[in-house]
Amino acid sequence: MAIKHPIQHIGLLGGTFNPIHNGHLELATYVQRRLGLDVMQLLPNHVPPHKETPMVNAKHRLAMVNAAIANYTQLDVNPIELARSQPSYSVDTLLTIRQQQPDNAIYFVMGMDSFASLSQWSRWQQLLDLCHLVICQRPGDAIPTKGIEAELLAQHQKSGISELNGKLSGHILCLNNPLWPVSSTQIRQHLSHGTIDLDLLPESVVQYIANHQLYRQ
Ligand code: ATP
Repeated sequence: MAIKHPIQHIGLLGGTFNPIHNGHLELATYVQRRLGLDVMQLLPNHVPPHKETPMVNAKHRLAMVNAAIANYTQLDVNPIELARSQPSYSVDTLLTIRQQQPDNAIYFVMGMDSFASLSQWSRWQQLLDLCHLVICQRPGDAIPTKGIEAELLAQHQKSGISELNGKLSGHILCLNNPLWPVSSTQIRQHLSHGTIDLDLLPESVVQYIANHQLYRQ
């Protein structure tokens, strides 16, 4: 008789991580704990060449993610997008991960700023066939009250993981997380002026940036 394995609950947090900061780590660990996920994978994206910060390529961004999560047992990195030579759409990445994990629940995590423009993503209509969406509050970005995103919430939002009834995809959760007022843009601006706020990013990342002289003008 075939052994039936229990469903694994896999979180995915896509981002450019340019650089990874404490907001990303807070977000990833908060969602992992709050939903009791087996693992939360950070999924570094390609940055289109014209947007790549000079001297900070994908190799450095991946190395900073690895340095940042070294002491977090429930966090992992999934380099699937960086292994491809071209930027890929999230929907294509999720199709691949869904093929690899047909029997697991997948939770695609994002801040409210990302969700607010979801209807501009390629083939966004397919996303909920592939995963659940988990949306966290972010300073300055309110929950959409009109447009496609608001309609998606009206149709698919549930109030907690217990309401998902073992489903592997198809629902949206909006979490009432504490606010983490930090962005990579803000950190890049500080670094370009030669300053750094040590509260905003892990020490291992500060060290990596210093060792490789990244984000200097
Ligand atoms: P940038 O300032 O370069 O746009 P960023 O700080 O938004 O970068 P990303 O790597 O683009 O970081 O973000 C990856 C994901 O993490 C996105 O879904 C984003 O909404 C979310 N995120 C990043 N920082 C925070 C934060 N402080 N609070 C909540 N969500 C966040």
